[in-house]
Amino acid sequence: MLLAVDIGTLLTLVVAIVVAYLVVLWLALAFYVVRDARRRTTSPGFTLFAMLLGFVPPFLGALIYFMVRPPLTMEQVRSLAIEEQVLLEPPVEGVPTRPCPTCGREIEQEFILCPYCRTQFARRCTGCDRSLRLGWGVCPYCATEVGAPALARTGR
Ligand SMILES: [Zn+2]
Ligand SMILES: [Zn+2]
Repeated sequence: MLLAVDIGTLLTLVVAIVVAYLVVLWLALAFYVVRDARRRTTSPGFTLFAMLLGFVPPFLGALIYFMVRPPLTMEQVRSLAIEEQVLLEPPVEGVPTRPCPTCGREIEQEFILCPYCRTQFARRCTGCDRSLRLGWGVCPYCATEVGAPALARTGR
């Protein structure tokens, strides 16, 4: 019967598509696991372990990998370390500082905005490059007109 043959062919086709789809998904997942492992560790042992898990058992291995992988990528670890270092760093000696009017952290007097909370409270003179308060329309150091006072805070 012609119709039966057609349904058989159709079924084979559907199964083939599903299998191909699963294989592609499995390979993509395995490669993703290996790449992810490389971003999280420099240890070749762990990368090899991740590679094995990514391929066998299919899908389940990747799931196990996601449960045991290091929680942070090396990039995240590095930026966390830098952040910590910056927070611990004392203000540079000899530079006059003052507390930020918004968040209260010590910042250098010449700063035109707070690097911590991003509040802007001054701007640069276009002529002599010194910091001017936002309300000033003219530079008191070099008499350059700096335009209308920008009272709106541009922080955030
Ligand atoms: Zn601040
Ligand atoms: Zn000036």
